[in-house]
Amino acid sequence: MLFEGKFEAVAPTECVRCLEPFDLQLNTEFDEVFAYNSGTFTESGLYVPEDGNIDLSPVIREYLLVESPIKPICTPDCQGLCIECGENLNLSTCEHQARITLDNA
Ligand SMILES: [Zn+2]
Ligand SMILES: [Zn+2]
Repeated sequence: MLFEGKFEAVAPTECVRCLEPFDLQLNTEFDEVFAYNSGTFTESGLYVPEDGNIDLSPVIREYLLVESPIKPICTPDCQGLCIECGENLNLSTCEHQARITLDNA
C-alpha cells in the first residue's frame, strides 16, 4: 500500500534574529510504503495495523522535522536586534543604528 501525501503545517516558533514569536509555515510531501502485516516489513518498517487504522501522525511529524529550519527567521530580511540595546530593528531604529550609518558615511 503506497501512501502519498502533501502536508502543510504551521509551527509556532521564535525568530533567531529578533527573538519575536512567529508562525513558521512548513510544507512537506511524502510517499511511504506500508506493508499489510507486520510479518512483511517494508524498508520503512511501516505496516498497516490489524485494526486497519493507520496513524500517520508519527510519519508526518518526522517529515516536518526534516523540513524545519535549524535557525528559523521570521522574514528573509529580518533586521534582528540591536547588539547594543536589544531594540527590535524591525519595529524601530535606535541611536546605535543611526551612529553606525553615520560612521559608514
Ligand atoms: Zn525576526
Ligand atoms: Zn541600539
